[in-house]
Amino acid sequence: MKKFEYMEKHGYEQLVYFYDKTTGLRGITCIHNTTLGPALGGTRLWNYDNEDDATLDVLRLARGMTYKAAAAGLNLGGGKTVLIGEADQVKSEAYFRALGRYVQTLNGRYITAEDVNTATKDMDFVNMETDHVVGLPGKSGNPSPATAKGAFHGIRASLVEVFGSEDMSERTFMVQGAGQTGDFLIGYLLEAGAKKVYFTEINEKHIEKINQKYPNVEFVEPDDIYDLDVDVYAPCALGATLNDKTIKRLKCKIVAGTANNQLEDEDKHGEMLKDKGIVYAPDFVINAGGLINVYHEIKGYQEEAAYRDIEKVYDRILDIYKIAKEDDIHTQQAAKAFAKRRIETINNMRANYVKR
Ligand code: NAD
Repeated sequence: MKKFEYMEKHGYEQLVYFYDKTTGLRGITCIHNTTLGPALGGTRLWNYDNEDDATLDVLRLARGMTYKAAAAGLNLGGGKTVLIGEADQVKSEAYFRALGRYVQTLNGRYITAEDVNTATKDMDFVNMETDHVVGLPGKSGNPSPATAKGAFHGIRASLVEVFGSEDMSERTFMVQGAGQTGDFLIGYLLEAGAKKVYFTEINEKHIEKINQKYPNVEFVEPDDIYDLDVDVYAPCALGATLNDKTIKRLKCKIVAGTANNQLEDEDKHGEMLKDKGIVYAPDFVINAGGLINVYHEIKGYQEEAAYRDIEKVYDRILDIYKIAKEDDIHTQQAAKAFAKRRIETINNMRANYVKR
């Protein structure tokens, strides 16, 4: 892999490889852009087939974090760490403390958190060696309710965009995936008086959980959901559910949910949704609630202040729809343009000399 070529093309700042001989820790931290603030992004533990796959993943994920934080209005840059290993075999106190020591060497340019295969309790070990870690037990807590709340506000904004009113009593919803975020989102929709909520799942336990908790929420088979005549489709499970096959079938007017990387091909499928007249809430904007919540840990966590910021997803989504209409571009493109513009503006604003 031509790393410098890739870094130059996408404007990366730093790529760091580290190895700890005591614990066998093998990791890569990538800092994409720190114009707005320290780079924040979780630590993913994955048994990558090879080092190039791990490198490409950390580069891609770090860049995604830059846009997510910028679009959310946070003073954060984008970064990420990947650790190469089999989660069941490598995890230990010393392993995560070793990680903490490498995070510390970056001297606050990078802040880590949990991600796939790492948990808050692992971050406690990281925290024994560095202060540059968030998502700690007893602080901002589980990000899922915050993520779902952000998505809920994004759905409200999308209803205003399409129907001129956020009243949910005449609206129907399909939530795909009733895991952590989907479960909370269903709760928020019902609380707001949604006329009808459907859900789909592949995990029997989760189906049972939703049936017990919300008896009026109706189960639909996973593959039937794309043909369902609903106002809002909320992807809250996997990525790439918006693709050549599914978009053709969609009858909804809005796609707005918590899942990451919803568009299989960002440009092609963003455009397909636009052509079909379906309003798409860009995934990295509508699902930023968890990031906004954890960001508040840096400042000293206060739930009320965090949730006030999460509510701003509402305005942000409307801003993006406006840009998309004005520039006649699809909403994912508009969201990227919005994020890039914010980074550029703040960078330029700081160009004058101020004595400190
Ligand atoms: P989760 O694993 O708790 O829930 C996902 C659910 O989807 C599971 O119950 C799973 O059984 C179900 N599922 C998987 N494939 C399915 C299919 N084909 N049809 C129907 N259901 C299916 O995950 P989560 O934390 O709720 O996250 C959901 C999505 O949101 C992921 O893409 C995640 O990356 C993204 N996200 C989550 C957060 C967060 O705070 N948890 C933040 C940002 C983005």
